[in-house]
Amino acid sequence: MRIGIAGFMHESNTFNPLRTDRAGFAAQSLTFGPALLDEWRDAHHEVGGFIESAKGLGFEPLPLLMAWAMPSGPVTDDVFDEVVGRLIDAVRRERPDGLLLALHGAMVAQSQLDADGEVVARLRHALGPDLPIVLTLDLHGNLSERLIGHSTAAVAYRTNPHVDQRECGRRAASLLVRQLRGEVRLCQALGKPPLLVNIMVQDTSKEPLRTFMEEARAREGRPGVLAVSLLPGFAYADVPQMGPSVVVVTDGDAALARKEADELSARLWDARERLNATLPDAATAVGQALKAERTPVVLVDTGDNVGGGSAADSTVLLAELLRQGATDAVVCLYAPREVEECARAGVGQEVRLSVGGKVDRLHGDPVSVRGRVRVLHDGNYVEPQVRHGGKRVNHMGPTALVEIEGRNLLVLTTLRHPPFSLGQLTCLGIRPELQRILIVKAAIAYKAAYAPIAGTIIEVDTPGVTAVNPHRFAYRNVRRPLYPLDS
Ligand SMILES: [Zn+2]
Repeated sequence: MRIGIAGFMHESNTFNPLRTDRAGFAAQSLTFGPALLDEWRDAHHEVGGFIESAKGLGFEPLPLLMAWAMPSGPVTDDVFDEVVGRLIDAVRRERPDGLLLALHGAMVAQSQLDADGEVVARLRHALGPDLPIVLTLDLHGNLSERLIGHSTAAVAYRTNPHVDQRECGRRAASLLVRQLRGEVRLCQALGKPPLLVNIMVQDTSKEPLRTFMEEARAREGRPGVLAVSLLPGFAYADVPQMGPSVVVVTDGDAALARKEADELSARLWDARERLNATLPDAATAVGQALKAERTPVVLVDTGDNVGGGSAADSTVLLAELLRQGATDAVVCLYAPREVEECARAGVGQEVRLSVGGKVDRLHGDPVSVRGRVRVLHDGNYVEPQVRHGGKRVNHMGPTALVEIEGRNLLVLTTLRHPPFSLGQLTCLGIRPELQRILIVKAAIAYKAAYAPIAGTIIEVDTPGVTAVNPHRFAYRNVRRPLYPLDS
């Protein structure tokens, strides 16, 4: 048994104007042939799971290619066409008995709103109907009927954060090997309930999603059902297939696959309100923070999620804090020019600054403040604990701490810096646990650092490129009606 191993993976945010080009793949992984074995064998990744499975399942792995780039805007047509073309060439050359292919499921190319579906459709048209193709998919994939129709079977991760990627690769390999041995006859169906699942409720270990993941496991135990995948999907993609997907793989029973996919889809539809929890706006959230008894109150600026690639200088919450007379709050802003102004003025001196709202027009307007420079710092600090991103030595560039009205503190940095470590504050002499309000520009990843000290956490529906409220985006290509856009 000879099985081709390949991957072509990208999570494309169609609201991001940057393009992901050949250099974007080459900088991460654009690997052809046997070199991918050494690169991916030990990775906590489905391709590592494919490779690992070869020995136990008794097949010869044929390494074809691996292309992976950091999440960003859509993929350019030239690298998309090149990778798919070289994959087809490699399969024709090596003539495997079957193909294990790792896709993300939320790839968009310049000319392909359904790039993953296009990959499999081109493979199918070039290689014919008989080659078994088993896919692995990221839990954030937005799956199309074309993708499922042209593949033999597909399985997705079951966890978010994704900690089961290797296992997902092993499951795919097992299905393909059973098919090649003639033990099963893979067939599958796709369910697409007409809703989207908000990014803030996509933690698979928490409700409401946890119950659905458990239900998928329970359905998998039914006679004839080989795999049930539930993908909540990726809402930063203006494509027809955006939204959750249910993929059911059965042993030769198309009607059973259809029935199971439809039932689980209906259950998601019934829970659509819980899968789209709405967050308070800035004014409401600041009002709640001022009344909260357990401090510090962490206000989560989800629209300006620095780790998700946003501006880092949103003033929406700062302006609201000042408007409502908040005191003892800490706000971090990317403000390189204002840091220079503070440095020129010197520690202890009074400054008048216009901070934030300068990177783009999506994150509020600059705010005029008057205050005193308390600290000037080189912006380097060490985080000794385990934190999201795994960084120890951190650089936020030359940094100024400015105290403004109401004993409120502005941390102005020269580099965009995500709130993954309290070191960002403690290195300046701030004791975050004694403050009343802390603004963090993040969605989930801040929690490892801030949850242990937070008295109250309030996630806020703020504007920006990482806004979690889908009503803030102008969708043109999604299928309609789609809950909650058309509720
Ligand atoms: Zn993902």
